[in-house]
Amino acid sequence: MTVTAAAVAHSRSPAVAARTLVEVAGVTKAFGTGPGAVVALSAVSLSIFENEFFTLLGPSGCGKTTLLRLIAGFEHPSAGVISLDGRDLTELPPHKRPVNTVFQSYALFPHMTVAQNIAFGLERLGRPRAEIGARVAHVLSLVKLEAMADRRPAQLSGGQQQRVALARALAPAPRLLLLDEPLSALDQKLRREMQGELKRLQRETGVTFVLVTHDQEEALAMSDRIAVMSTGAVLQIGAPAEIYDRPATCFVADFIGEANLLPGALVGRPGGTVAIRPERVQLSRAGEGPSDKGLPGTVTTMTFLGSDVLYEVTLASGVAIKARLRDAAPVVEAGSAVVASWATEAERPVAEDPVAAGPRP
Ligand code: ATP
Repeated sequence: MTVTAAAVAHSRSPAVAARTLVEVAGVTKAFGTGPGAVVALSAVSLSIFENEFFTLLGPSGCGKTTLLRLIAGFEHPSAGVISLDGRDLTELPPHKRPVNTVFQSYALFPHMTVAQNIAFGLERLGRPRAEIGARVAHVLSLVKLEAMADRRPAQLSGGQQQRVALARALAPAPRLLLLDEPLSALDQKLRREMQGELKRLQRETGVTFVLVTHDQEEALAMSDRIAVMSTGAVLQIGAPAEIYDRPATCFVADFIGEANLLPGALVGRPGGTVAIRPERVQLSRAGEGPSDKGLPGTVTTMTFLGSDVLYEVTLASGVAIKARLRDAAPVVEAGSAVVASWATEAERPVAEDPVAAGPRP
C-alpha cells in the first residue's frame, strides 16, 4: 500500500519523554561460526525512551526480530551491551527482566479460560490471590473483554484472542512490552482497528512498547519513533513525519512511501542523489505551464487510483519519474509531452546506503 504525505500527517506527533529506558550499545549478533555464519545484526546502537511507542521497521531478514529477542533475553549478543534503566541485562534470564513479549501466534493455553490465561503468569510470579484477581479484572477492562472472562480461546475471534494475549502480557505491569508482528494474523479491517487499540493501550498504561513490523504504513500510523533497519543495520531513527519528509538514505526514501530517486546532476546538485516524493511533482502540458521551468518529458502511463492519479513520465534525459496528482486537472494522456516541475525544497538529498540495503538473500 502506498503512503502519502496526507497519511503521515494523520500520525500523531511524538509525545516522547526524553528519559532513556533501553540502551542498545554496539550490539552485534552472529548465528553460527566460520564461513557459514549469519551476521543478523552489526554494531547496532539505539536508545528507546520511557513511555514511547517505538517501532523496528524493515524488510524480511533485516534483523528486527533478532534485536527484539536480544532485548527479551531469548538470545545473547555476540558483542555489545543492552541495558534497561542503566542496568546491564546480559546475565539476566528472560523471566527476570521487567519485559514481556506478545508473539505473532498468540500462544494462549487452549484448556484455560481467558481469566486463567491472564492470571497464569501472575501466579507463577507468586503474587497474592487478591492482587491477581484485581489485575485480571483491570487488564480485562483495558482490552474491553470483561464479558468474555470465562470463555476459552477457541470460543473467541482472532481479534479477541489478540486482546487476551495483550492483556496477559500487560498483567504483570512490565516496564517494556515487546510486540513481534502482533497484527499479522488479522484481516485488513481488524488490523486497522487493532492498530488504534494498541496505540490507546500504550497511552493508557504508559508502558513502553517496542513493535516489530515490516509494514511501513502500520509503523507510520502508530509510532512515536521508528528505527528503519536493513541488512542488520539501523539506517535512520526518527518520528514518522521526519523519516517521511527527510529520509536519510536512498533505502529509507524508497522503503517509506514512494520516492523518485534522481541523480543530483539532473537537478543541479552533482555528485549525489535526491529523493522527491511523487506528490510533490507538478505536471503541465508542454508550452502551457506557468513557466517553462522544469524538465521536459513524455507521459508513459497514467493510473487512476481513486483520489489520486499516478503518472509515469520519461524525462528527455531518459530518467523515469512518478507524479501523483490529487486532482486530475492537467489531464494528460499517455504519450503527451509534459513539463515536470517541483519546488526546490521538495528535493531531499539522500546518502548512499552504508551497506547493500534490502532484504538478505
Ligand atoms: P522477518 O520479518 O522475516 O521475521 P527479521 O527482520 O525479523 O525478518 P530476523 O528473524 O531477525 O529478521 O533474521 C535476521 C537474519 O538472521 C536472517 O538472515 C535470518 O535468516 C538469520 N537468523 C535468524 N535467526 C537465526 C538462527 N537461529 N540461526 C541462524 N540464522 C538466523
